[in-house]
Amino acid sequence: MLEDILAGGASALGIRLPDGALRRYRQYLDALLSANEAFNLTAIEDEDRAARLHFLDALGLASRFDLSGKSVIDVGAGGGIPGLALKIAAPDMELTLLDAAAKKVDFLSRTAKALELSAHCVWGRAEELGREPAYRERYDAAVSRAVARLNALAELCMPFVRVGGHFLAMKAADSDQEMEEARPAIEKLGGRLADVREYTIPGTDILRRVAVIEKTAPTPERYPRRWAAIQKRAL
Ligand code: SAM
Repeated sequence: MLEDILAGGASALGIRLPDGALRRYRQYLDALLSANEAFNLTAIEDEDRAARLHFLDALGLASRFDLSGKSVIDVGAGGGIPGLALKIAAPDMELTLLDAAAKKVDFLSRTAKALELSAHCVWGRAEELGREPAYRERYDAAVSRAVARLNALAELCMPFVRVGGHFLAMKAADSDQEMEEARPAIEKLGGRLADVREYTIPGTDILRRVAVIEKTAPTPERYPRRWAAIQKRAL
C-alpha cells in the first residue's frame, strides 16, 4: 500500500518525512491518477509503481542533495515530478514549477493549493523565461527529469541558477555517454559537472543518477538560444 511503500522507502533512503507527508502523497497520487483520465500526465497508473517510480525517485534526489530551505525551479515539471514530490518532503523549500503546457500548469496549481503547499506555478518555455530578469540566475537550484538530453537540458536549466547554485539533472544509470557529451555545453553555460550521485529506488532494482552541476560563472547572455537552435546544434 502507498503509505507503507513510501514510509519504508523514505527510511531506506535516509529521509525523515515531515508530519502530514504521507497524507499529502496519497492526495497527490489520487489527483494525478484522476487528472490522468482527462489528459496525459503519467504513463504509470498502478498505485504502487507510481509511488516508487515517481515519489521515491524524487526522494532519491533529495537523499543525494539537500534542497530544504532552498529556492528551487523544476524545469518541465509536467505532473510535478520531482518538484511537488520534493516539496511534500521539504515544505520549507521555495518552489517554482515551470511547464510549457498550460493544462499541466493548471493541474499543478490546483494540486499545490489542495495540498496546502505554496508553489509558484508558471506557464512558459524555459528558453524564454531563462532570458527574463525575474527568473534569470535567481534560484539556488534547478531540477529536471525526463525533459531533454543533458546537453540541451543544460541550456534550458543553467540560466535559472545563481552563481554558486546547482543544476541537478535526474538521469538513468546508463547515462555515461550523455554526461560526457554534455561537458562542453555545461562549461560554456558557466558550470562544471561536479559529481554524479547514484541511488536505487527502494523496492526496485532501478539504479538512478543525479548529475550535480555547479554554477561557477554567470551564463553568457547569448544563452539560452531558441529551442530550434538548441535542437539543431547542441553546445
Ligand atoms: N518532469 C516530469 C516527469 O518526470 O514526470 C514531466 C516529464 S514530461 C516527459 C516533459 C515535460 O517537459 C512536459 O510536461 C513538457 O511540457 C515539458 N517541457 C518540454 N520542453 C519544455 C520547455 N522548453 N520549457 C518548459 N517545459 C518544457
